[in-house]
Amino acid sequence: MNNCKVCGKDDLFTACTGSDVCSVCTQKFFGGGSASKVKIRAVRARLGLEDGEFFQMDHGAEAARMLGRA
Ligand SMILES: [Zn+2]
Repeated sequence: MNNCKVCGKDDLFTACTGSDVCSVCTQKFFGGGSASKVKIRAVRARLGLEDGEFFQMDHGAEAARMLGRA
């Protein structure tokens, strides 16, 4: 199982594409583009995440907001 390197969760996106970042984080932090190792490190630094720490968020609420349903 491949977990998101930003929030630590796994979803269909990480499972099916082998992406290092889940679909919600891809949209939220990477503008829908690819998340390279360098970009992931930059985003993690911006969020103030220590090694082994993951960004906490409500995935359902985030997804709904992105789709304009919140
Ligand atoms: Zn994520």
